[in-house]
Amino acid sequence: YCKTNSTFYSKRKPTPFPANDGLDVTTFISARAHHGTTAYIDASTGNRLTFADVWRAVESVSSALSDFGIRKGDVVLLLSPNSIFFPIVCLSVMSLGAIITTTNPLNTNREINKQISDSKPVLAFTTSELVPKLSDSNIPIVLIGSDTGTGKIGKIVNKLDEMMKTEPNRNRIKERVTQDDTATLLYSSGTTGASKGVISSHRNLIAMVQTVIGRFQLDDNQQTFLCTVPMFHIYGLVAFATGLIASGATVVILSKFEIHEMLSAIGRYGVTYLPLVPPILVALVNNASQIRSKYDLKTLKYVLSGGAPLSKELTEGFMEKYPGVTIMQGYGLTESTGIGASTDTVEESRRYGTAGKLSANMMGKIVDPDTGKVLPVNRTGELWLKGPTVMKGYFSNPEATASTLDSTGWLRTGDLCYIDEDGFIFVVDRLKELIKYKGYQVPPAELEALLLTHPEIDDCAVIPFPDKDVGQFPMAYVVRKNGSGLTEKGVMDFVSKQVAPYKRIRRVAFIGSVPKNPSGKILRKDLIQLATSKL
Ligand code: AMP
Repeated sequence: YCKTNSTFYSKRKPTPFPANDGLDVTTFISARAHHGTTAYIDASTGNRLTFADVWRAVESVSSALSDFGIRKGDVVLLLSPNSIFFPIVCLSVMSLGAIITTTNPLNTNREINKQISDSKPVLAFTTSELVPKLSDSNIPIVLIGSDTGTGKIGKIVNKLDEMMKTEPNRNRIKERVTQDDTATLLYSSGTTGASKGVISSHRNLIAMVQTVIGRFQLDDNQQTFLCTVPMFHIYGLVAFATGLIASGATVVILSKFEIHEMLSAIGRYGVTYLPLVPPILVALVNNASQIRSKYDLKTLKYVLSGGAPLSKELTEGFMEKYPGVTIMQGYGLTESTGIGASTDTVEESRRYGTAGKLSANMMGKIVDPDTGKVLPVNRTGELWLKGPTVMKGYFSNPEATASTLDSTGWLRTGDLCYIDEDGFIFVVDRLKELIKYKGYQVPPAELEALLLTHPEIDDCAVIPFPDKDVGQFPMAYVVRKNGSGLTEKGVMDFVSKQVAPYKRIRRVAFIGSVPKNPSGKILRKDLIQLATSKL
């Protein structure tokens, strides 16, 4: 790293950036196509797609979408578990300059409807099983995979299988897509409030693909990655649906995360890289002796952890139990279109507890959250990031954009960090409201708004409660109305009926009033201290 006036500049070698402004991310990736070898393997069926298969499918699906009337700027919703078809949908849609928005298949209809009314998709891709989640909307649907019958209630207009067989219309007129156009709209709550659409441009994604290529420097195509993280999240999207296909690696896909499936796939497919989130690492460390005797992990060289904090202790525990495997970290946000910092070499990975060094072309600074002053090396404050992968802003939300990005393009991460003299970033705490349950985002404001709709609740605050297995889970402090006999279970049941399982409130305490500052902001740190003081 190097620094001037306490701004840190990445010292990683930048990959030359494409100067051509009229470039979409799909074309950029396809120019690096590796024909012939395997791009994707479905772990449960063993079905394979070669790189040539993928690009042929992308040509066909793009053409079919264009014939259907999808145009630049249209939003297309992708509601699907991980599958070998997920990248094909993303790459096809983005090649037209249309915009991909993804959502967690675990989300309830209510949660999905909210995203639909915000992002206004004109088409949805989903599986037969998930069609009922779109039953409240009238969006035309393209089915991924076979029709198992549940699809009947939706407005099915086509099947991906059919689209993939379409003879591409090579004479169709292609709209000009520029690097500045929007490519994806992934939802994140950022530092405060409810989920918002994060606008990532083709330039953002191209820069992230470059980061992934530079990070792994895969000089042959023998490397095999196992995809355990969801592709609807920025982590899975940039690694498995875009970055690695440009790197020429083989990606083995688990449609649903299950630890035994994951471990047996390692031996079966000769997996060398295993990207995951910290809770899976906890399970690997806690059950190490059974796992090592039961599964063939000989090929495994690297475990990559990201999406949530990984402690020094857990890293050390892992290194002790799995001495042949190197553990590397990646740190990033949906708002930075993925990796903002990472450990990339065996040497860097030995700095246990660090989230890594800034990615190529990234700048970072540590800002005192109270005074706004930039802090020197080893002092803790909020990490700000700037660089080619930083989002353009939040979708139709100028206020949230203005409070997250400053006028010169610096992104407030909401993470409390320090940067040491060698440029290693350490994440100390989270300044923003966000709760992360197994790496999934749980925005407290969303749960608070829901709790306030309960007729017996006067006021409330939702905070993260630390947990060694899942990272954090949501806990609610509730002010009951006078005379209410509402129980803790009553509160939890009320919420669990309306939200995805990972957002459930798992602990409740009743309180006389919610502590707030004079402007009415919840004093979350006080409540966190109250909740955890007895631990
Ligand atoms: P998301 O937008 O869902 O990727 O969430 C981004 C947030 O996850 C960051 O702002 C951090 O709070 C947290 N996070 C991601 N990666 C790491 C990491 N390696 N260490 C600590 N926190 C992380």
